[in-house]
Amino acid sequence: EARLQEAKDSIRDVIDFPKEGIVFKDITTMLKDEKHLATLVETLYEQYKDKGITKVVGLESRGFILGTVLAYKLNAGFVPIRKPGKLPAATYSEKYTLEYGEDEIHIHQDALTEDDVVLLHDDLLATGGTAAASIKLLAKCGVNKAFVNFLVELDFLKGRDKLNTEFKVDSLFHF
Ligand code: 5GP
Repeated sequence: EARLQEAKDSIRDVIDFPKEGIVFKDITTMLKDEKHLATLVETLYEQYKDKGITKVVGLESRGFILGTVLAYKLNAGFVPIRKPGKLPAATYSEKYTLEYGEDEIHIHQDALTEDDVVLLHDDLLATGGTAAASIKLLAKCGVNKAFVNFLVELDFLKGRDKLNTEFKVDSLFHF
């Protein structure tokens, strides 16, 4: 569809960010345009409105932007997954490896129940480490039914293969 193609074309490549050799997909150039923002929200709402979603789980921090809007549109609640030291109450955590070193993400232990139908959302799937860890966090929370959504998937990094999940994984834009 033309509106989606225009939105995709508005994503900016930033060379050598956050370090040399990386081409960073900058979605701020897409989000700042009110037409593109509406296109994204309407498209994702149509995709997920009949799935019975009760909670949208968004990944810090770009997953919070559309994650919250989608939660509101879907009449669902919003749950954040955050970096260490941010969530105040008891959490489940999951470590994952980065290119250099390790990172960790957390979710509140009481944020989800086994009755929830979850939409896990982030802006971008790269190597898949963050998303794979997030899916493990959902399991720790007892979640049985979930959908996984990204605005952008970098197909050449094959992050999808690392997710190892029965949940349906969809990305709006592929590069
Ligand atoms: P992964 O764990 O899949 O390698 O990296 C995905 C995470 O890093 C996501 O939370 C995403 O926000 C961030 N990320 C990695 N590369 C990019 C990029 O090129 N553009 C944007 N917007 N985020 C990125």
